Amino acid sequence: MKIKEIGGEFALIERFKSLIHEKNAHLVKGIGDDAAVIEIAPEPAPLLLVTTDILVEDRHFRRDWATPQQIGFKAVECNVSDIAAMGGTAHWMFVSIVLPSDIEVDYVELIYSGMNQSCQIHNIALAGGDTTQGEILTINITLLGLVPKDHVCLRSHAKPGDLLMVSGFLGASAAALALLHQGYTPSEYLLKKHLTPVSRMDVSNRIAPLANAMIDISDGLGSEVHHICEQSQVGAIVKAAAIPVHPEVLNAAKQLNVDPLQLALSGGEDFELLFSISPEKLSLLKKSKTEYFEVGQITDKTGDVTLLSKQGESLPLPGGYNHFP
Ligand code: ADP
Ligand code: MG
Repeated sequence: MKIKEIGGEFALIERFKSLIHEKNAHLVKGIGDDAAVIEIAPEPAPLLLVTTDILVEDRHFRRDWATPQQIGFKAVECNVSDIAAMGGTAHWMFVSIVLPSDIEVDYVELIYSGMNQSCQIHNIALAGGDTTQGEILTINITLLGLVPKDHVCLRSHAKPGDLLMVSGFLGASAAALALLHQGYTPSEYLLKKHLTPVSRMDVSNRIAPLANAMIDISDGLGSEVHHICEQSQVGAIVKAAAIPVHPEVLNAAKQLNVDPLQLALSGGEDFELLFSISPEKLSLLKKSKTEYFEVGQITDKTGDVTLLSKQGESLPLPGGYNHFP
């Protein structure tokens, strides 16, 4: 049977869970969140966070579109984004790479110098990895972080009545990618959002103590709202008119002849944060001078995940990027 026949990536991961047991006394949260959460010592010790991501050439990056530094920078930032989504800080990194035999040493070193730019921002140390030869340039990063127990924001923590917030504009990375695919040159803003996205570690530490659920937007807002709703056993209403779409994304959507909303809902790689917060905590978030956009609300209607269109219609909220179409 092929992966798409069983329902794609997430159905496959569900099967893995039944093949290898996933319970352990110290594993607070295993599969199913942005990072695994491990209790290494009793409180007041922080919880350990572990996340991992693979980037494959021509699937996640192209050497003719991105410089090696940009590839390296993005590889680290997308992992940092997962640690930020848990409310934590990033500390230790393992890098495993598959290198084609004809690759230049200079090129590989430039990838590492790009990684280092991100590591310097977040004070991450390179702690190990693995290097091997293979056909396709592939970079796998595993990043470890820490989070105080009372700051951890699981996807399962959303409560009915919570407001749904995003930390910034959506759709720019997907717009740039679509433009590149069609042979257009994206604007500087769009290109930057696609090639060197910056995780929202700058705001996550202010959001985490106040938020209930949090997730980073890597597969499109639609998909991430569904993840929170499934894991929290709640419903949600997302207001199309409230989704922050940058004017440059509106321009790109015109050029591409697509609905800008589609870029924001199903595009992916925005690396903004989506979080739920109780209305009572909102004033504290405002005081912290954190920028946010209120895009909807969590409801008690489990399984009912609705998009309220600009025309006032209630539609099922579309999902996000599909890795196995
Ligand atoms: P994210 O988009 O935040 O990087 P993913 O959608 O990649 O998260 O993964 C969702 C969850 O599934 C995570 O908890 C991840 O650790 C787990 N997962 C993904 N692939 C595998 C795999 N091959 N084996 C075990 N767990 C996996
Ligand atoms: Mg994530």
